[in-house]
Amino acid sequence: MRFDRIIQGGSVVTPTRTFVGDVGIIGEQIAALGPDLDSTGAALIDARGHHVIPGVLDVHVHLELPFCGTTSADDYRTGTRAAARGGVTTLIDFAIPYAGESLSQAADNWLAKAAGKALIDYTFHICITRWNEHRDQIKGMVDRGFTTFKEFMIYESEGWQSDDRALFGTLEKMKEYGTMLLVHAESARVLDELIARHHTPELMQQYGARLHPMTRPNFIEAEAISRVVMWSEATGGQLYIVHMSTAEGADIIRAAQARGVPVLAETCVQYLVLDDSVFARDDGHLFACCPQLKKPADVRRLWEGLQHGEVSVISTDTCTFSREQKAMWEGDWTRIPMGMPGLETLLPLTYTHGVLTGKLSLEQMCLKLSTNPAKIMGLYPRKGALVVGADADIAIIHPESTLPVDPAAMETNADWSPFDGWPLAGFARTTLSRGEVIVDNYRVVGHEGRGRWLPRTTAGLR
Ligand SMILES: [Zn+2]
Repeated sequence: MRFDRIIQGGSVVTPTRTFVGDVGIIGEQIAALGPDLDSTGAALIDARGHHVIPGVLDVHVHLELPFCGTTSADDYRTGTRAAARGGVTTLIDFAIPYAGESLSQAADNWLAKAAGKALIDYTFHICITRWNEHRDQIKGMVDRGFTTFKEFMIYESEGWQSDDRALFGTLEKMKEYGTMLLVHAESARVLDELIARHHTPELMQQYGARLHPMTRPNFIEAEAISRVVMWSEATGGQLYIVHMSTAEGADIIRAAQARGVPVLAETCVQYLVLDDSVFARDDGHLFACCPQLKKPADVRRLWEGLQHGEVSVISTDTCTFSREQKAMWEGDWTRIPMGMPGLETLLPLTYTHGVLTGKLSLEQMCLKLSTNPAKIMGLYPRKGALVVGADADIAIIHPESTLPVDPAAMETNADWSPFDGWPLAGFARTTLSRGEVIVDNYRVVGHEGRGRWLPRTTAGLR
């Protein structure tokens, strides 16, 4: 067999085994895996002394999102460059209809944001924000190649909130179409009440950004997860809890899965490496994201959930805001643009704080960052694993050598990082997307606009 390109001599992680050898690429696809592939006429990439792993899928990303009175700072150009440098080769964003718009218009808006800018492949979850208007548009979106939908149990003021009727009705449709509903699970009424009780000049003066965790105790997430899990159990509709942050949430998911409820859960890497002690810092408001960072006990339980299996996916919920945008809060935590940069550091943080600390094996990491998200989101086997016939989406990382997180040197469009100064291993030395080198020697070399939209026909694990 003649190959266009061969990645030589790396430690190659496949779903069935990890071996030292080569990856042969023809065109955009992986054509062979094995020792000593015939290199006649092929372009060679030396991977000796490196891990060769499947490109990462970050399935929870918000680029150029109008939110909290501003627009998130990473667009499809900076966001996908950051992704590539972090070994991410596929992202899934959320298309949210603006006032009065249909689901189809929302998808068109997001396709336009990505067009001409994206460096890596992408698709969108379609957000159902007004059930009465959108319910009859869901099937049309499935026919258009969108198989994952999203509902928010909070954000009434943004016009995004879904009630139980919408959640129940959508899950019925997911069952019917073989598609999946993603849910932001927080308990709106009690959360609003706790925020209102604390929203006084005296308390804001006294506690500042610490009011963010103080007004979102763990039961806010746990109650909402239990309720929507009940609707999944009742309807048989495939459910996926996004950005799960609490120990209680992990317990509920574990129990539900044990009795056969079709529910899956993701956490985000920030909930695995940070806790809410950051809100006591002078710049603590920068760390506000939604849901907020929790306690060390939650961090431990989420790692355990990854090991046991009730947490299937690690993502980022990337929603980048600059210091200037974050400064809009002026001491009122309810006005902080909520979100953090993430695409560039997902793999390095998971590798350094998961694999190098022994919490996850390298193979488990690849499962949580690539294979599981690809399977769950209906992109496997085209994406998510080093197997013959898959797209040649590949990251090559050094096992130990670290780079310090330096916002000034990063592709992400932020003048700060939650991980500023942290030494991290696992930045991509080389990233390939569909057989093309887009990161070489830690620098982005791919051209913008080459990324493609990915149509899908299914989602979920049943
Ligand atoms: Zn999000």
